[in-house]
Amino acid sequence: MVGGGPAGLNAALVLARSRRRVLVIDKEMPRNHVTKESHGFLTRDGITPSEFRRIAREQILKYPSVLFQSGVVSSVTGGDGDFRLQLESSEATVRSRKLLFATGMKDVLPDIEGISEVYGTSAFVCPFCDGWELRDRQISVIAPNDSNLHYVKMISGWTKRLTVLTNASLLTDEQRAEINIHGIALVEESIQRIESHQ
Ligand SMILES: Cc1cc2nc3c(=O)[nH]c(=O)nc-3n(C[C@H](O)[C@H](O)[C@H](O)COP(=O)(O)OP(=O)(O)OC[C@H]3O[C@@H](n4cnc5c(N)ncnc54)[C@H](O)[C@@H]3O)c2cc1C
Repeated sequence: MVGGGPAGLNAALVLARSRRRVLVIDKEMPRNHVTKESHGFLTRDGITPSEFRRIAREQILKYPSVLFQSGVVSSVTGGDGDFRLQLESSEATVRSRKLLFATGMKDVLPDIEGISEVYGTSAFVCPFCDGWELRDRQISVIAPNDSNLHYVKMISGWTKRLTVLTNASLLTDEQRAEINIHGIALVEESIQRIESHQ
């Protein structure tokens, strides 16, 4: 198994219970590593991502057929029945009959100065994850295109104090009218820099 985030850990648990031998190779850089608390997962609301993984590993390691290895898989050769995995910083090759990728996804942040410094602490991607903590507060939504504009209406459920930042993307008159109808402030200039003063 390549990847030991929630998806990989859950798969490892089920495979272990199915009496499969599993090696979980994990780079230990999960998507949510920037966040302090994870929300909305039943029985674990508010848990830190590292504590979530610690509990999961502890439970999985009760099953004798699972091993964890820290490392980065840099290449895979072979095929079904005989995969060969090369790890960065190791000459050794890992062989496996089956291969499961649970490597997660990578967030591509907008090209705005300062955004990576505030990402996960005061800039967020998922209102269901962090909206409750920000309820009724002033929130700016960077919504430069159609697909993001739907967020604006959704987020108004958490706060009415909203500003839409288009970051110089052009809006149609229809989109502008829709934003105005909801009484939402609109800034159409490009964003120079993001700073957090919390
Ligand atoms: C800022 C932020 C806040 C979030 N808050 C919440 C929340 O409150 N509630 C919620 O439910 N969800 C939240 N999420 C979403 C949550 O993080 C993801 O849904 C979850 O991490 C997906 O799990 P995963 O196992 O698919 O991927 P990941 O957690 O990203 O795990 C993938 C693992 O694979 C490893 N990996 C990748 N490539 C390799 C390789 N080549 N070799 C070895 N290992 C590799 C990575 O290092 C990582 O450890 C948040 C996400 C972000 C970005």
